[in-house]
Formats: sequence, C-alpha cells, structure tokens
Amino acid sequence: MGSNYPIRIQSMVNTPTMDTMATVNQCIRIINAGADYVRITAPGILEAENLANIKSELNKQGYKTPLIADIHFNPKAAEVAAAIVEKVRINPGNYTDKKRFEQLDFTDLEYNLEIEKINEKLLPLLKICKEHGTAIRIGVNHGSLSDRIISRYGDTPMGMVESAMEFIRICNKENFQSLVVSLKASNVRIMVQANRLLVNKMIAENLTYPIHLGVTEAGDGEDGRIKSATGIGSLLADGIGDTIRVSLTEDPEAEIPVAKQLASIFSGRKESQAIPFINTDLKNPFEYQKRESVEVKNIGGRNVPVVIADYDFSVSSDKLTSMPEYFYLNSGLDYTKLPENFDYILNLHDWWKYAKDKSNFYPFYTDAEFRFYGAKHADLNFVVVSNQDDIEKLIDAIDGKANVVLILETFNSNGFADQRSFFYQLLERKINIPVIINRNYADENLSEFQIKSASDSGGLFIDGFGDGIWIRNAMPFKPSEITSTSLGILQASRVRVSKTEYISCPSCGRTLFDLQTVTSQIKQRTSHLKHLKIGIMGCIVNGPGEMADADYGYVGAAAGKITLYKGKQVIKKNIPSEQAVDELLGLIKENGDWKDA
Ligand code: SF4
Repeated sequence: MGSNYPIRIQSMVNTPTMDTMATVNQCIRIINAGADYVRITAPGILEAENLANIKSELNKQGYKTPLIADIHFNPKAAEVAAAIVEKVRINPGNYTDKKRFEQLDFTDLEYNLEIEKINEKLLPLLKICKEHGTAIRIGVNHGSLSDRIISRYGDTPMGMVESAMEFIRICNKENFQSLVVSLKASNVRIMVQANRLLVNKMIAENLTYPIHLGVTEAGDGEDGRIKSATGIGSLLADGIGDTIRVSLTEDPEAEIPVAKQLASIFSGRKESQAIPFINTDLKNPFEYQKRESVEVKNIGGRNVPVVIADYDFSVSSDKLTSMPEYFYLNSGLDYTKLPENFDYILNLHDWWKYAKDKSNFYPFYTDAEFRFYGAKHADLNFVVVSNQDDIEKLIDAIDGKANVVLILETFNSNGFADQRSFFYQLLERKINIPVIINRNYADENLSEFQIKSASDSGGLFIDGFGDGIWIRNAMPFKPSEITSTSLGILQASRVRVSKTEYISCPSCGRTLFDLQTVTSQIKQRTSHLKHLKIGIMGCIVNGPGEMADADYGYVGAAAGKITLYKGKQVIKKNIPSEQAVDELLGLIKENGDWKDA
C-alpha cells in the first residue's frame, strides 16, 4: 500500500467474530469480489484470539489476503490481534480514553499527562507489531473524538487531525513506520477538509504515511454510493488516498465493485491533456466558502445550486418527486406538446424560431453565437464554455450584461481538475457570472453513472464552486433518475438539502439487529421528512458517537433492545425492537418535527 502501488480496496465483515465459519465464508465472498484486505471486529480478547482460527481456516482454503483487526476501547485485544493478523486498526478517540463528556477543560499539565498515558498504552502494541511485522491503522472518526481533543479543538477537522497526529508522533518517535492513517466522517465536507489538513500537517512535519479513505455511515443504495463517491472521489481527485473502503448498509461484498470503480476512475488521470496552472493562494482548501456570484433569475447569488435535466416525454409518466429547475430540450422534440408548468432551455436556433415570445423558454448559445448573434433573452441566457475557450473575449462580450449563466463543459480526461482550473481563472479575474457544472457520460449502468458523476462534480461543490449541475448520459436514463442523482450530489456536498438524510452504519460483528431491514423500514416511513437527519446504528458502543450530527438516532442497545436519541441525548432506553420504529416516529412527533407525507 502507498507509494506507487494501486489504490487498495477493502471491506469489513459483519458476522459475529466468534462465529468462525460464518466469518470465514463472508471473508471469502469479500475476497472473491476483489478486496485486497478484509477487516474483522475484535471487541474483546476472546474475539481477538479467535482471529487465529479464522486466519487458519482461510489459509487452509487457500486464501492469504491480509486481515485487519478492528479495535475500540481495548488495548489488550489490540495486542493479542497484533500477533495474529497483518494490521490492527485502533481508534485514537477510544484507545486510551473512555469518553465521559465530563471534563471539557484541560490544563496544559493535564493535557500533557493524557498524552503521556497514550504513550504508555501504545508502546506495548508497537513492540508486538514490530516483532510480527504487523501494520497499524490510526483510524480517527469524527463522531468519536476524545474529550481531551474536543476541549482544545472542538468537533472540527483540525480536532480530527490532531487526534491522529498525537498517535503518529509517538509511532514516529519510536521509529515505527508501518502506519496508515484515516480520518472518517459521515459529513462529507468535514471528511474532505480533515484529510486535506492531515496531508498539509504531515508535509509540514516531513511525514508521508499512506492514507485510508472512507465516508462513515454513508447508507445504502443510491445515497450510499453518491455520498461515498463524493467524499472519496474528491480526495482521490486531489491525489490523496492509498486505500479505500466504501461503507454501505448492504452486504459487505456489495461494497467492492463500487470501490473498484471509484479507484479505476482515477487510474488514468496522469495522462490528461494540459491544464492551466492555478494560483492556490486564491482559496483556502480547508474551509468551505462559496464562490461569490451574481443572481440571475433563480441561479447564483444566495440561491441553492439548481438542477438541469434533459427532457423527454416520459416525464409525464415518470414519477418526478423532485423536479429539476430547468429542462433542456433536444432538437427534434415537438415543442407544442410540452407541459406548460416547467422552464425550458433550447438551442438558439430553435428558441428564435419557436419560443422567443414565450416567458418560460431560454436560449442556449455557443461562445461564438453569443458574441456574434444579436438576439438575447431579457432575463436569462445560457452560454456554454470550456476551459479551452478564450475566456477574455467571452467575458468582454458578456461584460455589463446581468442575464448570463455559463454552462461549463469539459473534454479533458481529468475533467475535475480542468473544471476546477476554470473556476480559479474566474476567481483570479474577479468574474462573478454564475456557472453550471456540466458533465456528459455514456454509461449503461445507473450505479456506475452515479459513482462517476458524484466523484467528478461533488468535489467542485465541496470547494464552493458551481451554481448548478447538469449531468447527461448518452443512454436514456429517466429524468427522475438524473434529477435524483443530481440532487444526491448536491446533498452529499452539503450545498442543497432535498431529502431526509440517513446516517446508517455498515454493520459489523457488534451489530445487534438486522440493520438492512430496519433501515429500509425507517426509510419507508420517514423519507418525506426532508429536513431531518436520522441515524440508524448497530451498537451502543460506537453508534451514538458515530452518528455525529443526526437529529434522531435509533441505536442497538442489547439483543432485541433499542435506545432512541434526540440529538446526542438518550430519550428512551431498551425499547423492545418490535416497537422501536413506531416509538421513533412517536418521538419525532412529540418534538414537533413530524410532517404528513
Ligand atoms: S456502529 Fe455499526 S459498524 Fe460501528 S461498531 Fe457499531 S455495529 Fe459496528
């Protein structure tokens, strides 16, 4: 891993670790799907010891894939596992600290004593790892930072970085180099900022450890894929990331094709066409700041990014629960049969011929058409540009007209960097025309289209660029599928909320209920509550911390028992699982957050 090796793919089993054969069989399914490593939870010493049986059975069946033990709260379990498996993941938030939310003020002396404690607990593990050639992942999660870190840095990306750096510095001092570092969060923007900060900090301290990327509790289906691709893809596009895990609330082997596709998107980028140099001083990559743009109709300014989708006549039968703001009309459509209640964009020729007098039709120009053709719409004109166009000439032509929106396309094989470079040129020239990010694909599979488009565009929105999104595909996906993907990318980038957000863990050997079934039951009954974030977590040990900023939480407390949270506060403890979904709905209602569908 690391250096010039390919991006390594991994997943984690969700079977009980003491069930050797179930765990072995799931490891095999994950390995056969193409994983380079498999992670197994080891909550206690017994489970850590049983890793030896799991490994031996795998070896007997011809599988030598490296195994990783996942440790929380139990240094002794880490020490046992380190003598058996190839890597041990420890969480700095709970390796030495028990999170009590008690002491939120630490004097310098108390703070340094805590670091000393980490040192003491970590040294025995480093010794065993050195003896056995075992690697360590220092795996920080946004939701489980220690009280000490929160006291100094808050629940912030810098807090996550410092949490890892405390452990990294000790390993480095002990000349222990078999390290990999991860900073994960379910909030994609925080996850991206934290990893950028980590790399910056490591460079400053002359450290170059590999980085493991993942978005925690990403959920399932379309949401899980888009959220993971937005976070992981944004960082891979920055050149950050040596191994990845896509955490889906699905069977673990289902994560592997998604992760492989994500990694493959970036494998050929070095060979891209030249991209103009960017002046990185123009923007702080560690904080979110929206690029300022003027408002043109409902685009730019303080408006949330808009969605454009290609129109086809299936719209009338298609269940478009969320509408795009604009439909693009391809030439050849019968414009007389269009529903009246939408806004449409069409090429200049057709607009002039059929629709220039209609208030809800807007023209779409090429750069040359805009510069040399006199007719313009009074309120809104779309002009397509790319990073190759002569920006100066176009800007001169647009100058003084407050009714232009740019559609930014790209032909570069590294389209992300190409489009980002265009935005930097606009920043440099202080040009604040709104810009729609446009990408064109030819995918046959909807899931592949979602992963590609999220990893291509999500990072630009995380950077604060983009006043809208227009993704297209040569194969005719329905307008509802395109719109849903676009809105998913905007939501994952945290620039526009259009649906209930589910923060559901991928499940593991600690999980106390059927997470996939319960997640789908909760989704069915709450998907209209677009203003809420709902956490669905498999265990009480890590769940409450990991669900981070969820408004409500459904957490496995014991076998058959569920605890419900409002924010970070426990509201109902140990409810029988058969009643728990109803009780969750009741809790949402009691707090005035319920709306009828
Ligand atoms: S929150 Fe879910 S994935 Fe995390 S340890 Fe608990 S059960 Fe496992």
